[in-house]
Amino acid sequence: MAKPAVFLDRDGVLNREAGYLHQVEDLHLIPNAAKAVRLLNDHNLFCCLISNQSGPARGYYSLNHVEALHERLQHLLDKEEKAFLNALYYCPYLSPAAGGTNPQFTCWSTWRKPNTGMLVAAAWEYDLDLQQSFVVGDKATDIDLAHNAGAKGILVQTGYGKAVLSGSYQHETAPEYTAENLLEAVQWILTHELF
Ligand SMILES: [Mg+2]
Repeated sequence: MAKPAVFLDRDGVLNREAGYLHQVEDLHLIPNAAKAVRLLNDHNLFCCLISNQSGPARGYYSLNHVEALHERLQHLLDKEEKAFLNALYYCPYLSPAAGGTNPQFTCWSTWRKPNTGMLVAAAWEYDLDLQQSFVVGDKATDIDLAHNAGAKGILVQTGYGKAVLSGSYQHETAPEYTAENLLEAVQWILTHELF
């Protein structure tokens, strides 16, 4: 039977929002983020990173650099709480209109959030039920993604979350829940999952 999943945005949810991370050492976990992932692991809830990473399309850095950032992310999760992500998806593509310049990655892509490509790919690969799933993010576009996929959206107040709530960033949004941070989001999920 298809299982529920918790999809996690990266910047501003797991690690501190600090713009484009040109140095791997500049990736730092948000307090209690590792604890939150560990809680998902303990409850056998499939935990999947879904991240727009337009750095390669903008010509800022290579795919290898994005992979190195994700190795550090996984290392820090493991080091703090022996926590782990079950899968990692990211979209390196960006349309020309949105600022893509490197021809290798400059295209429209159904993987770019709030399009649902990464969730659909994960659902096929790991037998996930998107309607029973959750998306946790710090942007209105993460909540749009959740709703586009038929999942529930949780907005955290780390990263851009507070700016979204005050109306000074992106657009108005109606998440199923607004959480202080990822740990509180996961605690809410654990009391609201339907199985
Ligand atoms: Mg984010």
